[in-house]
Amino acid sequence: MAAVLLPTLEHLTPHDLVTYSRCPHEMELHRSERASQLNGTPATPRTPIGTRPEARSPLFSPPVHSVQVFEGRIDFGPLDRLVYVDAGERGLPVLFAPEHTEPEPKLSGRNGTLVDEELGFAGRPDLVVRRVDGDLIPVEYKATHLFHDLHGFHGRTFDTIQAIAECRLVHAATGRRPSHGVVLYGDTGGDGGREGWVEVAYGESEEHWLRAALAQIRSDRVRAPVPAERNCATCEPNGLGRCSYAARRYDPSIRAHAAE
Ligand code: SF4
Repeated sequence: MAAVLLPTLEHLTPHDLVTYSRCPHEMELHRSERASQLNGTPATPRTPIGTRPEARSPLFSPPVHSVQVFEGRIDFGPLDRLVYVDAGERGLPVLFAPEHTEPEPKLSGRNGTLVDEELGFAGRPDLVVRRVDGDLIPVEYKATHLFHDLHGFHGRTFDTIQAIAECRLVHAATGRRPSHGVVLYGDTGGDGGREGWVEVAYGESEEHWLRAALAQIRSDRVRAPVPAERNCATCEPNGLGRCSYAARRYDPSIRAHAAE
């Protein structure tokens, strides 16, 4: 019998999802840049020249009914354990004493990158915490203010997408579905008075959304620009002069806050 060649899924990351939710063309510029670096030859963005800009991304919104915002300092219990840290990430808060750190072998991934072979999806949460009941909680850390900076530009959609994506990666790596993911805000640029965190439930509807979103991105042959001030001011390809649709000049000071 002749071998059947299955199509290879386009590799996607949580960053791709977040970027596509703002501006598909930004994601495409990042993707083509990555491809150029990998292959050593320039890769052309798939967005056809002359594509009409859109008012918003075609990505349908993730479920937000269960998103909860908490102000103040997050507390973990004495029996909770830190089981994964992204070793490549600088400036993460120290939330656990060394004796409360127990690396989970199933989360070692490929050099720390969690890979979901089924969905062609990969990425690295900042931290994963194992609660006393065994629940595994991915934590994404942002040094910014809970309600300003990144949130001011991108709202809670960012938190929701990021948390769902990281829950799926932990689920794929361990076989255990996290009950929720956390995005933790440190407000290090302020006085720390607006620390807080966002909890996003991870159930079947969230996983269903993620699967559909990845399929939608892969089937988008245009990846149109969404030139809006809130997008373009923090868009890295814009800062490199790679987008002719930009609605606003790139602002490195906002980007520095947003990316922390
Ligand atoms: S500059 Fe604006 S329109 Fe262009 S890729 Fe970036 S976010 Fe999209």
